[in-house]
Formats: sequence, C-alpha cells, structure tokens
Amino acid sequence: MSVSKTCQPHIALFPSAGMGHLTPFLRLASVLLSHDCKLTLITAHPTVSVAESSHISSFLSQHPEINHVEFHVPPTEHSHTISDDPFFIQFEATSRSSHLIRPLLASLTPPLSAIFADLVVANGVGKVAVDLGVRNYIVSTTSLKFLSLMAYLPILTTSDAAKLADGTAEIEIPGLTPLPVSSIPPPFFNADHAEIEIPGLTPLPVSSIPPPFFNADHGFTATLVSNVKALPYCNGILMNTFESFEPDTLSAIRDKRALSNLPPILPIGPLESCELSINQARYLPWLNDQPVKSVVLLSFGSRTAMSKDQIRELRDGLERSGHRFLWVLKTKKVDKDENEDDLEDMLGGSFLERTKNKGMVLKEWVKQEDILGNSAIGGFVSHCGWNSVMEAARNGVPVLAWPQHGDQRTNAEVLEKAGVGIWDRTWGWGNQRLVKEDEIRRKINELMKQVKLKIKAKMVGEEARKAIGNGGSSKSSITETIASLKQSL
Ligand code: UDP
Ligand code: UDP
Ligand code: UDP
Repeated sequence: MSVSKTCQPHIALFPSAGMGHLTPFLRLASVLLSHDCKLTLITAHPTVSVAESSHISSFLSQHPEINHVEFHVPPTEHSHTISDDPFFIQFEATSRSSHLIRPLLASLTPPLSAIFADLVVANGVGKVAVDLGVRNYIVSTTSLKFLSLMAYLPILTTSDAAKLADGTAEIEIPGLTPLPVSSIPPPFFNADHAEIEIPGLTPLPVSSIPPPFFNADHGFTATLVSNVKALPYCNGILMNTFESFEPDTLSAIRDKRALSNLPPILPIGPLESCELSINQARYLPWLNDQPVKSVVLLSFGSRTAMSKDQIRELRDGLERSGHRFLWVLKTKKVDKDENEDDLEDMLGGSFLERTKNKGMVLKEWVKQEDILGNSAIGGFVSHCGWNSVMEAARNGVPVLAWPQHGDQRTNAEVLEKAGVGIWDRTWGWGNQRLVKEDEIRRKINELMKQVKLKIKAKMVGEEARKAIGNGGSSKSSITETIASLKQSL
C-alpha cells in the first residue's frame, strides 16, 4: 500500500558535534524514512572530525531523497569556554547561534511538521519551533540517568553539593570554628563517598559527576543549563534507551516522583545501525576465523585518546591476559590529527610482532556495531559512551566499563545495574591515575570468564531486541510519535 505524499510529515533533524551525537540521529533518520517521513538534515559546518563529514556524505548519497541544509556556525568571540576541546567549542558555538536557523527552516517546502534537535540547541531551536508553530522534540544521546542529572543542573550548580565536590564544604561543630571537609582524615569522612540526591531518584555518587558540573561558570555547564531550562517546553524527549534497561529512573519521572517538569520521555532504542559503505573491513577475515566468544574488543569511542603511559599499561595487561583481541586505538582526540606511524611508536614493534596471530590493533574507523554482532566477540572493554553501551546491550555482549569523562561514569552505573557490565570504580576518571597492567589483566580475565555476566548480557540482548521488534515498547513509542505527527497534517 502506498501512502499519499500529502500525509508525509516533514521533520528537520538537527544533531550537534561529534560522532556520538551524529550516529543516533542518522540511525533515527533511517527509522523515520522507513515510516515514510520527509526529512531535512541540518548539519553544522565545518564539522569537527573527518568521521562526521564522511558519514554525512555517505548517508546522504545513500538517501538522495533527504534534503540537506548546511548550517554555518559563526565563530564565537566572547566564548567563556575554559576548555580547548574542539567538540566543546563547537557545542557552545552551535548552542549560541542555533536561533539563526529560523530563516532556513521557515523557507522549507513542504512546511515543517516538527524539529528533532540535540539537547545543546534546545533553547534556540525551541524558540524557533514556537515561532513557526511546529512541534519540537529533543533527541537525547545519553542515558536517562545522565539526562536527569543535566535536567537537575540549574539546582545542582547553586547547591551546597558544589562545595562538597571542590573541597570547600565545611563541617560545623557547634561552638567551634568550622573545619574544611578537605582537612578531615578520609576514615572519618570520605568526600569520595558523598552522594548527590536528585529528589525521587537513586542518589548518584559525587565521584560520577563530571567535575565541570560543580562550576556554574564552566562553559560546558553554562551551555547545558541554558538548554535544559527549555526542556519543559518541548513536546517530548526521544531517548536512545529502552524501558527494561533503566526502569527505575523512567518510572520515577513518568510518575512525577522526580523531575516533574520534564515532558514525556519516549524510549526508542537501542537504535539500529544503518548500513554505510564507509570502508573495507580488513579485520573481518581474521575475526571470522576466531572461535566463538574468544575475542575481546577494546574501543574507547570516537574522541578519547589515552595517555602514552596508559596505552602501554593496557598493552601489557592485554597481552598477559592471554586473550585474543581487537583493539581500536585512537591516539588523538580529533581524527584529523591521527598519524599511522603512531602505532609502532606507541606499542613497540615487538608487541605487534609477538601478538600478530593473537589479535589486531586498528587505527582506522571500524564498524563497531558489526564487530559487536560477530560471534567471535566475547567481551567489550568500553569507555561507556552511550552509543557503545546501547550497542553492547543490543548484541548481548558483556562490558568491562572503563569510563573516561563526561557522562561515562553515570552510564557505567546504569550498565552495571542492568547486569551487563563490571566496573572498578577505583580506576577513576581518564588520566586521573595510571591504571596498572596487573589490574587491567585481572579485570579482562574476569570479563571473559564470568559465566553469570554472559548469561545476563544475553538476556538483556533479548530484551533489547524485543523492545525494538513488532509490538515492543521502543517501536510503539516511535510509531505513535510519527502517527501523531501524521494526524496533525
Ligand atoms: N564508532 C565506530 N567506529 C569507531 C569508533 C566509534 O563505529 O572506530 C562508533 C560507535 O559504535 C558509536 C559511536 O561511534 O556508535 C561513538 O559513540 P559513543 O557514544 O560510544 O562514544 P563517543 O565517541 O561519543 O565518546
Ligand atoms: N521557555 C520557553 N517558553 C516559556 C518560558 C521559557 O520556551 O514560556 C524556554 C526558553 O527557551 C527560555 C528557557 O526556557 O530561554 C528558560 O527560561 P526561564 O525564564 O525559565 O529561565 P531564564 O533563562 O530566564 O533563567
Ligand atoms: N569531556 C567530555 N564530555 C563531558 C565532560 C568532559 O567529552 O561532558 C571531556 C573533554 O574533552 C574535556 C575533558 O573531558 O576537555 C576533561 O574534562 P573534565 O571533566 O576534566 O573538565 P575540564 O578539564 O574541561 O575542566
């Protein structure tokens, strides 16, 4: 049955910088196309990484029916960013200028039905949506738990918790001068064990909250605060998660026990990967030859580079664990800066020679989701970027969480609670301390050997696939959202 084109809702998708943001938007775009929606993809230019520009052009050439709008982000002169991270700088610049998208959107034909936008442009895009009289959904690219934390930021940044985190909090002994928490011996009071309570939700350890969140003046925090304030005014938040993965947080928000000002939360994940002809996978013949569940995949996302020293500890721990491996190694934050020669320089030629039958180290872009779906993979050492967590869950692969920054410790909490992963909290944030090879070796062995973990991960994989299958909760959420857009045409 063909659907009349007049019933096609026209949706503009507006992702922000980085593959972790672009990927779920492209995956969602595929879903929307399969539901016969007309799409406009807005991409900020210039992109920060080569991976983004090559994925955008590959996706568009596969889907010529998509209308593409390049949004030229004006450079910000008065940035209060104190970070030199190019992704942060782009977030902030896009956030500040997102209202400028108005004329581009107003001139589209057929007229728009809805804008699906990233959280970092919620404020500007929200205003444009009201102006144009179109619906506005936010697409969240992180866990519901971390989204809740961000939604709570306007309160958190003004609370005493900030003082606890930066060590300026004080203990008051009535009648005496207050004592700074930082001078109290840890056995009496350990600030590392302090927790942040978001009313209605399970408390979050202070140690899992990104340090910039305790500083309201930090550029990233300020950008988020201004955008989360717009959340209550949007029509819903589409989440790359599924009901049985984060049930407690979801029910607390839905029952209005927590963050009662949030709009409807719509879990639509795990979003499935879209087939892109990006590269020839040179690791595939090797991987296909390995025994079932014998290989550990190590990958820390698209923009995390470990220190040289940490890479060497990981190399030794991995080799001594004795397991087969596929290691995707990034040595620079932005892929443009990568250099092929780094591999030997970082790892040493003798390691590569000794392990040539045991594993592969790759510096290029790999199809991570496809690798996770390969029967040879038995475990995944991951930084817990949310896309990676969802990909592991969907494929039922157990994870050794090694969160580095941002939302990743919160995501690791969620992953561990869902039973899919193990995590040693003492490893700290990335670069906080050097994690030694024997710690890494032990944890990799635990990952590859724990039967309970394997069984639970497999069960979670089945639940994930049920959620996105016919009649599943995630599939229903997206189908109903699209149906309501079609109805209002
Ligand atoms: N990814 C990939 N190949 C790579 C590196 C990353 O396919 O070589 C994908 C990964 O599967 C995920 C996304 O890029 O879908 C990275 O997002 P994530 O949220 O896991 O981490 P981030 O890169 O944002 O830190
Ligand atoms: N907002 C909105 N509709 C409203 C009120 C607020 O869309 O009726 C959005 C708008 O994007 C605004 C943001 O919420 O910039 C925060 O507004 P609020 O007045 O709560 O906070 P302020 O920025 O003044 O601290
Ligand atoms: N980072 C990130 N997402 C976040 C927070 C941090 O990607 O939500 C990255 C970013 O590269 C940043 C680095 O982690 O520059 C260090 O972050 P940290 O939390 O130590 O904050 P900062 O050094 O900016 O104060």
